[in-house]
Amino acid sequence: MVDTPHETSEPDAIARVRRIRVAVIGGGIAGLVAALEWARIGASVTVFEAQDRLGGAIETRELDDLPVDVVADTLPLRDATVVALLAELGLSDAVEAAAAHSAWVAGLPGAVGAAPLPADTTLGIPANPWADDVRRVIGWSGAWRAYVDRLRPPLTIGHERSLGRLVRNRMGDRVVDRLVAPVTWGLYGVHPDDIDVDAAAPGLSAALTRVGSLSGAVTAQAAGSGPDAVPAPAPPSRGTLRGGLGLLVDALAQRLAELDATAVTSADVSALTRRDGVWRLDVDPGALTGADRGDAPDAPD
Ligand SMILES: Cc1cc2nc3c(=O)[nH]c(=O)nc-3n(C[C@H](O)[C@H](O)[C@H](O)COP(=O)(O)OP(=O)(O)OC[C@H]3O[C@@H](n4cnc5c(N)ncnc54)[C@H](O)[C@@H]3O)c2cc1C
Repeated sequence: MVDTPHETSEPDAIARVRRIRVAVIGGGIAGLVAALEWARIGASVTVFEAQDRLGGAIETRELDDLPVDVVADTLPLRDATVVALLAELGLSDAVEAAAAHSAWVAGLPGAVGAAPLPADTTLGIPANPWADDVRRVIGWSGAWRAYVDRLRPPLTIGHERSLGRLVRNRMGDRVVDRLVAPVTWGLYGVHPDDIDVDAAAPGLSAALTRVGSLSGAVTAQAAGSGPDAVPAPAPPSRGTLRGGLGLLVDALAQRLAELDATAVTSADVSALTRRDGVWRLDVDPGALTGADRGDAPDAPD
């Protein structure tokens, strides 16, 4: 056999990739997908997950024989990467449109307790603070405070980038805490203060400057016409999986196993250090089973 570069380069490359050892800390959806990316090209992958199950914020439990997603419950179906992943894992047929207008706000003080998320809102920001479904959540004093938004001059120099600070400044704490925060935590897992207005609600700041109030900007975006209208963001297309999003975690775990990747649960990584060019993970040894214990410390390099 002639040792040509062409004949040797491909096996060399494969062997090189196989020698790469990858440790993924955290077996939530991000960690599992990262592990899949590496396992696909042949690297030796180990996922370390602190909890006794994979999935992180994706968890499906059976309630009276009904699968219920207890944290994250919808998938962004406009995201081509998500759609491709579902197809690769053979889950396309299990996709269903998420029920519209089914979100509720829980933990409200007093006798209200919980209420449906008001209808005319953008990221929880109400178009009309006096609407019955809004007042039910923020109360009379919250509605009065939110109304101040209509009286205040719009920002004329620059604009507030933080969604939470913008809404708090114009409409008060109750709108942020009871309407906007439940939506942003639910959609992005992030507090409104840490969300960029332009990224989450394109055009909202511009509409505020044009129409003079935040609630007016929400109305203008919803209307999508007239002199003050701004292009409304495409309505989010969200779906779920028949049987729960846990199916996605199960399918990823199975695919990783097929690719010879290892997922270790109850493995809390407490430190990541690099010495002499070698990465070392400290994994809470008490959390590992005897079989895992020997593998864990030397996993990454
Ligand atoms: C209440 C809520 C509802 C949400 N709903 C939706 C939704 O409906 N749709 C949507 O698209 N997004 C939703 N999100 C956002 C979405 O859940 C997250 O963006 C996504 O699931 C996060 O995945 P992740 O892998 O980054 O993190 P996580 O799911 O949090 O996973 C991180 C994992 O890492 C593990 N871990 C952490 N530290 C260590 C360590 N030192 N050693 C070992 N393991 C460790 C954790 O135990 C955990 O399992 C929601 C978020 C929240 C908080």
